[in-house]
Amino acid sequence: GPDDLAARVAFPTTTPAETTAQAIAFLREQAAARPLAAVGIASFGPLDLDPASPTFGYLTTTPKPGWRQVDLVGPVRAALGIPVVLDTDVNAAALAERRWGAAHDVDTFVYITVGTGIGGGAMVAGRLIHGLLHPEMGHMRVPHDRAADPFAGSCPFHGDCWEGLAAGSAIAARWGTKGEHLPPDAAAWELEAHYLALGITNIVCALSPRRVVLGGGVMDQAQLFPLIRRELLTLLNGYVQVPAILERMDEYIVPATLRGNAGVLGAVALARQAVSGER
Ligand code: ZN
Repeated sequence: GPDDLAARVAFPTTTPAETTAQAIAFLREQAAARPLAAVGIASFGPLDLDPASPTFGYLTTTPKPGWRQVDLVGPVRAALGIPVVLDTDVNAAALAERRWGAAHDVDTFVYITVGTGIGGGAMVAGRLIHGLLHPEMGHMRVPHDRAADPFAGSCPFHGDCWEGLAAGSAIAARWGTKGEHLPPDAAAWELEAHYLALGITNIVCALSPRRVVLGGGVMDQAQLFPLIRRELLTLLNGYVQVPAILERMDEYIVPATLRGNAGVLGAVALARQAVSGER
């Protein structure tokens, strides 16, 4: 858990062969010091998570150069001979927030990361949602008033999807500077909160989460939280009549608590599933 990380290493994601070899070398070093029971991999996506698929455990259509149709699980399992569990970085972070963080007391919630892109992991009744693939919440369509915001959007697949309008890369492209260089009272944050609240409104209506946990670099802008809460109430317009939203909004839209450890703890939580059989 968060207070018990025995070792950690960070290195840049370069080519699949080089990066996978570095990861395996690190795990072999650890295995020499203590027995390893399982490996969890929390990866960017999209991923093939269908056990019946011939490319189960592969990255699929990622725009990241060189990483399309790359087997993430096979080489690690072959090298170490122990169970390897793969899920998206956001699903894994959701699992970690449920076990150790901001969602420890709810079994139906959504974790959203707003960084370079936007990703969402959803847990319903204690289980992460997987289906055809896995949720791709960042690519939902949200209303875009081009008169108020002429920015065309930055998603290479859809232009002005949610991620294309509201991710960190969209903020930088629209305003000509990274979000962290914009003053906290800039109009940029009102617009950002509007877009984030639009996406969250869709998620609240579609999945009925008991809490929405927000992480990622853009959410380091703490001024966004009150703006998003207010905008969500405006957009819902009194329709979802529950005290969690009407009276306790400060506990409904909350920051992630595991922050920079969300990914690695997510991977730990995945590996624990393989060992214990828990979901
Ligand atoms: Zn998109």
